[in-house]
Amino acid sequence: MSEVQQSAVMNTYARSPIAFDRGEGVYLWDTDGRRYLDFYAGIAVNSLGHAHPHLVAALKAQAEKLWHVANLYTIPEGEKLAKRLTENSFADRVFFTNSGVEALEGLIKLARRYHAAGGNPERYRVVTVEGAFHGRSLATIAAANNKKYLDGFGPKVDGFDNVPFGNMNALRDAIGPETAAILLEPIQGEGGIRAADLDYLRQLRAAADEFGILLILDEVQSGNGRTGKMWAHEWAGIEPDAIATAKGIGGGFPMGAILAKEEAARGLTPGTHGTTFGGNPLAMAVGNAVLDVIGEPGFMERVEKVGDYLWDKMAGLVAKHPTVFAGQRGAGLMQGLACQPDVSNLEFLNALREAGLLTVGAGENVIRLLPPLIVEEKHVDEAAAIIDTVAGQWSKKDA
Ligand SMILES: *Cc1c(COP(=O)(O)O)cnc(C)c1O
Repeated sequence: MSEVQQSAVMNTYARSPIAFDRGEGVYLWDTDGRRYLDFYAGIAVNSLGHAHPHLVAALKAQAEKLWHVANLYTIPEGEKLAKRLTENSFADRVFFTNSGVEALEGLIKLARRYHAAGGNPERYRVVTVEGAFHGRSLATIAAANNKKYLDGFGPKVDGFDNVPFGNMNALRDAIGPETAAILLEPIQGEGGIRAADLDYLRQLRAAADEFGILLILDEVQSGNGRTGKMWAHEWAGIEPDAIATAKGIGGGFPMGAILAKEEAARGLTPGTHGTTFGGNPLAMAVGNAVLDVIGEPGFMERVEKVGDYLWDKMAGLVAKHPTVFAGQRGAGLMQGLACQPDVSNLEFLNALREAGLLTVGAGENVIRLLPPLIVEEKHVDEAAAIIDTVAGQWSKKDA
């Protein structure tokens, strides 16, 4: 008889058997008591690291007061967080969700309703770009148009026109009388830390204005201070009409949001859209606590500074190990190391994990470095030393 332990969890992830037991700051400990330096942060989620005292206190205090009331009633913590998010963005209105994909679905619906409310219900199509990732719902896999995620799930949801990333002519050609919006990530995360040119973003803004359509951005991964600005689009000096965000916004508590200009949100009137859990008091309490910290004077400047430090360290490693690394990408604390074609990013990051450093893969054979925003120079040194050692062994292995 086989003694193999069968997991009751669905087999949708190629999971590592490592199980983490506790975390503190930028470190995680597994159930065997082994310590790891966390440079993936639950995929850009644990923005303030693990067990941040301010977040723990906020969650505990709320847990003792009230967990859930549904959106039929006013949620003061949500009112407060929405106000603060609008003060820290281009937006006037916020809709809270539980996840990134829920924010993206709502964002796409917002764009369609915007035109319907303006008397143009025929405008429902959204132009998207290659290499995108917008989540795993039926609409968002159609939006991103990644064959790997569409395969076997039946006919693609209609309404998306996918064009090459960065190609302004192709994008303009795709805009027609049925187009409602342009949707993209300012920096593609899962696609391989591919940053949109700032000028491309500005041209997209201009094209949206020219054609009377919305520019809607997916800042699920790039937002909430990840790139050294609250929102990645700020680097281009543009204002989108609406964005979807999630991941780091709750510091590890599952939540997301749509942020929109008043005008862009005009179609979302009572009864048109909803969510049971979105904006739940527990999530709102933690969201406010996250903003307390990342909104502190100097916090974002520190993210930018330590991001530059990480960039320089990685530049040194790319130069030192040219047979392993092909280059580097990204901004702030959303960076990627591109591996050479004969080096598998997934094998390399397994070796990094063996050596005590946690990272995550991305498209184009990239290793994503997404440390908590509280990471310090000394942690970057520690990560760089591990990467250096593993890359050194890798080059020898190949020689
Ligand atoms: C993670 C991610 C999503 C999906 O978020 P979920 O919370 O997993 O649904 C969407 N867009 C981008 C850019 C992401 O990184």
